[in-house]
Amino acid sequence: MAPPKKGDLSEEEKELLEVIGKGHIEEAARLLGNKNVRVNCLDEHGMTPLMHAAYKGKVDMCKLLLQHGADVNCNEHEHGYTALMFAGLSGNKEIAWMMLEAGADTDVVNSVGRTAAQMAAFVGQHDCVTVINNFFPRERLDYYTKPQGLDKEPKLPVKLAGPLHKIITTTNLHPVKIVLLVKENPLLAEVEAMQKCYKVLDLICEKCMKQRDMNEVLAVKMHYISCIFQKCILFLKEREDKLDGLIKSLLKGRDKDGFPVYQEKLIRECIRKFPYCEATLLQQLVRSIAPVEIGTDPTAFSVLTQAITGQMGFGEAEFCTACGEKGAAKRCSVCKMVIYCDQNCQKLHWFAHKKVCKMLKETHEKLELEAAKERKEEEEMQKREAIQATESALASEEQLVSESGDNKEGELNCGEDRTEQTIPSKETSAAIPQADSVFEADINLEDIAIAKPQESEE
Ligand SMILES: [Zn+2]
Ligand SMILES: [Zn+2]
Repeated sequence: MAPPKKGDLSEEEKELLEVIGKGHIEEAARLLGNKNVRVNCLDEHGMTPLMHAAYKGKVDMCKLLLQHGADVNCNEHEHGYTALMFAGLSGNKEIAWMMLEAGADTDVVNSVGRTAAQMAAFVGQHDCVTVINNFFPRERLDYYTKPQGLDKEPKLPVKLAGPLHKIITTTNLHPVKIVLLVKENPLLAEVEAMQKCYKVLDLICEKCMKQRDMNEVLAVKMHYISCIFQKCILFLKEREDKLDGLIKSLLKGRDKDGFPVYQEKLIRECIRKFPYCEATLLQQLVRSIAPVEIGTDPTAFSVLTQAITGQMGFGEAEFCTACGEKGAAKRCSVCKMVIYCDQNCQKLHWFAHKKVCKMLKETHEKLELEAAKERKEEEEMQKREAIQATESALASEEQLVSESGDNKEGELNCGEDRTEQTIPSKETSAAIPQADSVFEADINLEDIAIAKPQESEE
């Protein structure tokens, strides 16, 4: 069959594009069953229905189109954009992920030489950048599920490929999260399986460093996960509480302020043990971490995350205190200083947090008081400034009247500028308490306290 021509659309195909924009999924399904509809038809710009759906951020529509055989790597767009690039532009990470799973090529560049990840970064869609940069095709892992060379057995049992792939592609590198991912799969959570997995990770790491287009980011990530797996093995072998013991060690805080020292030291150790000391990324990591005293910012976890996921502005997003997941929005209703994904994460952390919750509460109250004081001072200063601005504007107007100046326009503008300046600053100060109230979805800590006797204490 000849490839579709640009802009050569049947009536039904035109209807399909319209329906995609509106997100009418049933209509789209009906149209895709029509013999006059080609799933990879091209509009006048060379956009396929899948590109349209990706650009508009329609998750279900993308799924439907892929099920109907949409070509994820179609590259007929007038500026060389692919469906993955459109997903990146839309900022919908679920769609970006879907395109990657469907086999989207990440190396393709558009007409100005940008990859999908670079385009997403350019428009500030950092979540999509993270997804694209951390994608690891399943086939690359499946390679190890077949015996290679003289091997009688594959390095990786087929049944472990799925769960391992899930961990490899995670963008949350928090050690607790990785251990939780191991724990949730009984096939994975045993010594022999873990040993096979970490050896495969080491092999992938080596490959990443030795291949022609070296991938240091992926190499460091593989090495890091391998190190965490080796710790899992240690705990599985030596501790009665197995992986729960490891999670507890990782979350346990020091008496002074609850800072998880073991966790910090473990991450630092993993980085230090990276076998390719000439790697630029390693040197960069060591340089950022080494001078930091344990217990102060930035933590090794945040430095590592930034390096591997390319996540910018670590401080802006809210990360779960227990598992490091981004977008955690529940906080301890007593101290209001720690946040969690949900009650599971809070429960996990409670044994450590309960020791410092009260102290953190006092800190929080002190901070609140200081912030309130600062706000008040700022408001007063703004008021004074506004009065001054009006006074000087009046004065200059008087001057204008007496001088009959040529630069009348300039002077007036100056006065206008000043009033404009005071408006946005007032708006931002008013926005602070609003943003705060978004997180008022507090969880009830009393619940946890009641549940406490069920937990095995220490
Ligand atoms: Zn969490
Ligand atoms: Zn608390």
